[in-house]
Amino acid sequence: MKVIEHIERAREPLFSYEIVPPPRGRSVKDLVDVVETLAPLNPPWIDVTSHSSTAYYQEKLDGSIQKRTLKKRPGTIGICGVIQNRFRIDTVAHVLCLGFSREETEDALIELSFLGIENVLALRGDSPNFQKQLRPDRTANHYAADLVGQVKDLNQGKFLDELDKAQPLNFCVGVAAYPEKHFEAASLKLDIQNLKRKVEAGADYIVTQMFFDNKKYFAFVEQCRAAGITVPIIPGLKVLKSVPQLKSIPKNFYIDLPDALVDEITENPNHAAEVGERWTRRQTEELLAAGVPGVHYYVLNDVHTVARIVKSFK
Ligand code: FAD
Repeated sequence: MKVIEHIERAREPLFSYEIVPPPRGRSVKDLVDVVETLAPLNPPWIDVTSHSSTAYYQEKLDGSIQKRTLKKRPGTIGICGVIQNRFRIDTVAHVLCLGFSREETEDALIELSFLGIENVLALRGDSPNFQKQLRPDRTANHYAADLVGQVKDLNQGKFLDELDKAQPLNFCVGVAAYPEKHFEAASLKLDIQNLKRKVEAGADYIVTQMFFDNKKYFAFVEQCRAAGITVPIIPGLKVLKSVPQLKSIPKNFYIDLPDALVDEITENPNHAAEVGERWTRRQTEELLAAGVPGVHYYVLNDVHTVARIVKSFK
C-alpha cells in the first residue's frame, strides 16, 4: 500500500521507521533482526536508505596511485524486497540523483516495481568525494525535483526509451525537508520555495530531517502552509544516546540542539541515553497532541530504544 493511503486511512497515530543497509561485506541478518523487533509494532512502512559510491585511493606495489570506487552500503532494493515480501510490511526505497544516471534510476524503479514496492523517497543525495562521469549517451537528475518528475513520468508510462507494451509504474513519492534549513540554501524561505518545486513536480508527502526542538517543526509547517504547500509533512525524530553526539549531530546534520537538552546531558553524562530517550518520548507526545500525520524515527543502531518509545504510545 502507498504511504499516502496509509496516512489517509489512519485511525490511530502512525509510527514509521528508517533503517540503513549494512556495510559492504556484512550479512543482512542484523537488519532482519531489526525488522523482527519492529514488526510487532505493526509499522505502516519502513524506509530503507540508499547510498552512492565513494572514491578512495590505493597505492599499488609500483608506487602508483589507483583510484577505486566502492559502494559502501549496497542492497537497498534487495532489502526492500525482503521486508515487503517476507514481512509483508510496506517499504519506501530511497532513490538518489547523485551517483546515478537517469537510465540507471529507471532500471532501479522497474526492479522495485517488480518486487511489489510502491513507495520511493526521492532525494538528491550529498556530493560524495566521487562524482560519477556520465557517459555521453546518459542523462542525470540534478535536484530531487527532477527525480520526482522522472518517477511521475514513469507513472504515466513515459519511459526514457520507447518500450514495447510497457506498463506504467505506480509509485507514491515522498521528498525530504529541513525545518532548520538545508545547509546549502541561502535562506529558509528559498529552501521552502525549492521544496514547493518538489511538490509541484508531484511529491505526495514530505518527511523532515531530524529536529530536537518541536517549535522548529511547528514554525516550519506554518511557513510551508503559508507558501502553499498542502501535502502531509511527517516529522522525523532521532534518539540522542551519547555525549559525543552533542557534537556529531549538529556537525553532520546542520541542526541545533536545544539548551535544555544539552544542559541535561552535560549534567548527567552517564545517563545520556536515558535523557535522550525521555526527550524523544516527550517530543513524540507533543507532536501527537498537535495532530501530526505520523512520526518517523531514524532507527540507525538503536532499534530497542525506538521500539520502547513507540510501545509506550500503543
Ligand atoms: P534537493 O531538494 O534537491 O535540495 C538540495 C539543495 O538544493 C537545497 O539547498 C535546495 O534548497 C536547493 N535546490 C533545490 N532545487 C533547486 C533549484 N532548482 N535551484 C537551486 N537550488 C535548488 N542521503 C542519502 O545519500 N541517502 C539517503 O537515503 C538519504 N535519506 C534521507 C532521508 C531524509 C528524510 C532526509 C531529510 C535526508 C536524507 N538524505 C539521504 C540526505 C539528502 O540526500 C541530503 O540532505 C541532500 O543534501 C539534499 O537532498 P534533497 O533531496 O533534500 O535535495
